[in-house]
Amino acid sequence: MSSSRKPNIVVLGTGGTIAGHGASTVNTAAYACSVRPIEQILIEIPAIALIANVKTEQVLQMGSENFGSAQLLMLRKRIAALLQDDEVDGVVVTHGTDTLDETAYFLHLTLNSVKPVVIVGAMRPPTALSADGPLNLYNAMVLAASPESQAKGILVVANDEIHSARDVVKSSTFKLEAFASPYGPLGYVVEGRPSFYRLPARRHTVNSIWSGSEIHQLPEVGIVYAHGGVSPAAIAAMARSGVSAIIYAATGSGNVAADMVDALRQARAEGIHIVRASRTGSGIVMRNGAQPDDRYDWLAVDDQVPHKARILLMLALTRYTATRELQDVFQAY
Ligand code: GLU
Repeated sequence: MSSSRKPNIVVLGTGGTIAGHGASTVNTAAYACSVRPIEQILIEIPAIALIANVKTEQVLQMGSENFGSAQLLMLRKRIAALLQDDEVDGVVVTHGTDTLDETAYFLHLTLNSVKPVVIVGAMRPPTALSADGPLNLYNAMVLAASPESQAKGILVVANDEIHSARDVVKSSTFKLEAFASPYGPLGYVVEGRPSFYRLPARRHTVNSIWSGSEIHQLPEVGIVYAHGGVSPAAIAAMARSGVSAIIYAATGSGNVAADMVDALRQARAEGIHIVRASRTGSGIVMRNGAQPDDRYDWLAVDDQVPHKARILLMLALTRYTATRELQDVFQAY
């Protein structure tokens, strides 16, 4: 992109609170989601026209709690096509915040471009007092228009912070500071200027094994959440549902209650991969740490939270079936 022209950015609208509408300015929890068209959202932020030439596409209009594999694959396909176009310098996706971290991670692992792709949402609808969507979206446009954002993987911007799609997790139901990364943000956007302080260390986009692949379908992977008194019946029911793998969101560092071990080993004997993760939200689950994974032929998640480990594992299972190869994926991405 030459510095003498404004970059061309395509904004894909998918719905969420950023496209919401409340009956009054104090409605920050009870309001309609996914109603305002992306074109209208952008018209209300005139500062964006000063930094980029913008095209919009309303690709979905739904709460992200409804997103499944079909929506992820559709978004990947559309964004990949846009990134291949020499006239497109970057892509922004407006998204409900609930599963924004999952979509961002999926795109981080599957898009084959160094061009900026930024996923953005809002915690308050545009009609609310102190709505966060307009500044979040402006910051997303700044990032997508900036050559500094190139080759850093998919970025999530919220509350002035730039997060790597790999690390970011939605971690509050209502605060504007809802997005957090265990290692901190990559940087900030302040007054229309991005500042980066660190880079993602794990493989992504052009260095990911899935970025060059056609993916038409993803296998089913389920998550079972541990708690005091958790019943082995939860594992048996999940196994019967036809999943290829179960991620067990275990307690602490990946501890498994004694009567759950048999149920998980039984599921493994039936050909279902078992992954030990943690419900704590951060930290490492170490292979052969709290449980003998080699002996049981189980996997350990490394540092990923269960719902994002699920995204990685669905992709891993499109290529590999051997435990060793699947474990390598958790250590590399
Ligand atoms: N239903 C919304 C979603 O799409 C609510 C969350 C939000 O956008 O903040 O995820």
